[in-house]
Amino acid sequence: MAASSLMATILGAAERARAAGRDPLVVLDLDGTLYDNTPRTLRILQEFAHLHAVGHPGLYERLDTLARSAMAYRTGDTLRALGVTDEALIEQVQTFWFERFFTDAYVIHDLPNPGAVAFVRALYTAGLVPAYLTGRDAPNMLVGTVQALQRDGFPVGTVDTRIILKDRFSTPDEEYKASVVEHLRATGEVVAVFDNEPGLCNLFHEAFPAAACVLLDTSCAPGAPPLAPGLQRVADFRGLLP
Ligand SMILES: [Mg+2]
Repeated sequence: MAASSLMATILGAAERARAAGRDPLVVLDLDGTLYDNTPRTLRILQEFAHLHAVGHPGLYERLDTLARSAMAYRTGDTLRALGVTDEALIEQVQTFWFERFFTDAYVIHDLPNPGAVAFVRALYTAGLVPAYLTGRDAPNMLVGTVQALQRDGFPVGTVDTRIILKDRFSTPDEEYKASVVEHLRATGEVVAVFDNEPGLCNLFHEAFPAAACVLLDTSCAPGAPPLAPGLQRVADFRGLLP
């Protein structure tokens, strides 16, 4: 499906939902979908290198040469690609990263993916209800998440938007999102879903076969399943804008 007809499909479905007295929901993942997390990871790595500049000379300078596109899903792989061979150091950095990545204080370093803000605003203006559904957990990340969404110009916090985080860190993302499906179904009409994980696009496609389930082809967890046949993938949101 061409990008322009995808937009037309979504707007048409939203209009029908509205006419039936239902909220037309567009389910939007955050990490890897609306947001690019690499600035968050880079910031944490730079902080480590800065704090350990004496014990690990050269690490900070090496990070300066790191292109965002060269950042791997796993921090250890990023470091190995930079030529770091000290496995004890890699483990130390990974622990440092893990202690910070899933927190309010660091999530604000993320930046929206290209076109994401304009795209969500266009849907919102057309009467769709953005439902941010994320694997981030509310106890550790709600404040920073709302702060970033508001700073970046995403509609958030009002009666015609929704934001759904996990109630605890330990629940696997897929299990959590599957558990939210029935709540979404009961409270609105899911007309579109955007996620960077093929497994989650497939899950939503199964739950809402009439919805446009679109994969953001940014990065996904290693070992992800193939995208279900017929589902669309886009590189970012710029091509979807009217
Ligand atoms: Mg994601």
